[in-house]
Amino acid sequence: MEVIVFLGIQGSGKGTQAKLLSDRLQYQHINIGDLFRTHIKSKTPIGLEVNEIIKAGELVSDDIVFEMISESYSKEAKGIIFDGFPRTMKQAEYLLQHFDVRRVYYLNLSEAEAIKRISGRLICSNCGLDYNVNSSAPKVANICDKCGAALKVRPDDKPIAIRKRMKEFYRQTYLLKDIFHSLLCEINADKEVPEVYQSILTDYLK
Ligand code: AMP
Repeated sequence: MEVIVFLGIQGSGKGTQAKLLSDRLQYQHINIGDLFRTHIKSKTPIGLEVNEIIKAGELVSDDIVFEMISESYSKEAKGIIFDGFPRTMKQAEYLLQHFDVRRVYYLNLSEAEAIKRISGRLICSNCGLDYNVNSSAPKVANICDKCGAALKVRPDDKPIAIRKRMKEFYRQTYLLKDIFHSLLCEINADKEVPEVYQSILTDYLK
């Protein structure tokens, strides 16, 4: 089963691009952060265990992440797109041992631009849909287009947590570019969504 990975700093557009590519290829899209948020909302044992860690902007332990991966991926899927996994060296090794990775897209965006983007980010408190007041604003301010619930700032997008998450990104995830160097395609993410997507698709189809 073919696997594609999206790496990039918070706010680089991994989620948006992974969704576009997974819709196009009909691959399963796995976003570990979303899976954790669902667990937290449903107050499952995993949700209760990771809630404070995520709120503080820290990384969840590799073992819990591996549990999430093995319970979420479908063996019948045509392919899988991982977004937000791997984030540590141990996770990268796990990925290479268990899956046939075809390509790793590294979405390159400066920290300053990432912070600017994140400052506009909102999430639906009910269905979890993402918005950005600068680029994908809801039709009515602070109300979800899909379910009508209130929008809120993700707790881990608040300034202290986001600084911590970015620090972790440079400390642990950025280094993974080396382990994946032969599979890596670096994409300039400082452009509009369709342009970034086109660069990814052009590479994928070549
Ligand atoms: P995200 O929405 O992808 O930024 O993920 C939200 C949070 O979930 C992260 O800040 C981490 O606390 C946790 N998380 C998501 N993916 C991973 C991962 N691969 N390894 C460890 N923690 C993760």
